[in-house]
Amino acid sequence: MAPTSKPLDALVIGAGPAGIGTALALSAVDDLLVGVVDRGQIGQTFLDWPTKQTFLTPSFTGNGFGATDLNAVHPRTSPAFSLGADYLTGPQYAKYLRSVVKHFQVPVLSDTEVTAVEAAGDGFTVATSRGPVSARTVVWAGGEFSDRPDARLSGIGLADHSATPEAWEPRSGRVIVIGGYESGIDIACHHVEHGARVTVVDAGSPWDAGSGSDPSFRLAPRSRMRLDAAAATGRLTLTTAHASSIKRDGAEWIASLDNGTRIRADSRPIAATGFGPGLGPVSELFTLRRDGWPELDDDDQSTITPGLFLSGPAMRHGALKFCFIYKFRQRFAHVARVIGEAQGKDCSGLEEWRTAGMLTDDLSCCGVECAC
Ligand SMILES: Cc1cc2nc3c(=O)[nH]c(=O)nc-3n(C[C@H](O)[C@H](O)[C@H](O)COP(=O)(O)OP(=O)(O)OC[C@H]3O[C@@H](n4cnc5c(N)ncnc54)[C@H](O)[C@@H]3O)c2cc1C
Repeated sequence: MAPTSKPLDALVIGAGPAGIGTALALSAVDDLLVGVVDRGQIGQTFLDWPTKQTFLTPSFTGNGFGATDLNAVHPRTSPAFSLGADYLTGPQYAKYLRSVVKHFQVPVLSDTEVTAVEAAGDGFTVATSRGPVSARTVVWAGGEFSDRPDARLSGIGLADHSATPEAWEPRSGRVIVIGGYESGIDIACHHVEHGARVTVVDAGSPWDAGSGSDPSFRLAPRSRMRLDAAAATGRLTLTTAHASSIKRDGAEWIASLDNGTRIRADSRPIAATGFGPGLGPVSELFTLRRDGWPELDDDDQSTITPGLFLSGPAMRHGALKFCFIYKFRQRFAHVARVIGEAQGKDCSGLEEWRTAGMLTDDLSCCGVECAC
């Protein structure tokens, strides 16, 4: 994206899958002036992933039969096809995003941090590290990765968050992982596979199968298989309890649990305690739901700042969570159409997204459970 003094029709903040995907859909609307900015590079979060971290949603080129690759952000692309891999690493996915940007000529300005967003008249003034940008609408796609809220336990500063490289470095002896959903099980299995004895602590025991089929609420099949293999070594313990504090005791670390037990470890505990909504400079422009996630209208727009949209894993509608790419991508074309129609543009180019199964307008159809 070249710096422009002309107001953009839509400015997308963040060049991860949510930002690039939304920009691609906006580009399918006739005659919209669109730009994307990122404080780092295209796919920066994936470049920052710990090197052992891989996707848990597999890629597979089912596009020709209407089953678009789960990790694709455009109907005519497939990371499995372009990279020849199924469980992608972070750098592989960043490479896919770069190739999509290049192929579809998405206007992205890298190394451009957004520091403030202000509603001004019928649009926005956006302060960036390269100077101000004016835009009629803004899509926040800044992701969750840098928002690591402190878990409700004292001594959390003695733990390594699971998203940091330190948490993945080899550990011997006893390891404690606090949090037992995908990130916790992933890193616990990683350390068991490398010979450590690992205790995972989570009051909600998310490793239990549960009753629903939504992967936002139950472990992915590959995680379950890895969990079974780790349990078979005898070096994995799953504990249903809430960790209330972490303390240092000489060469050991002690986690106290609310069931009265204390667990000792030979290295800093690992906090796999998740991510926040990551709203950064737009946090004042959204109200939050009681559960802390941003309040959105039916079009993924802020309820207090018209023209400001959210794209990405922080999106919630009722009980629905959009925390995987295959989920939040269903809204790229919807948001693009809302923005395009408000500006009187021809949005027929978005039909390709619907045909490919990448457009969900009616969210009531998302709660279907699998019969078997
Ligand atoms: C460890 C982990 C594993 C995951 N595994 C999967 C998986 O297997 N499958 C799946 O579908 N989903 C997975 N997810 C969920 C989700 O797909 C990812 O979090 C994904 O990165 C979200 O995409 P995004 O574009 O919203 O955010 P990001 O990829 O984080 O992109 C946000 C971009 O915004 C930029 N940015 C942020 N703030 C600013 C600012 N102020 N100014 C300018 N730029 C800014 C950042 O530099 C970044 O490039 C995983 C998430 C995590 C954390």
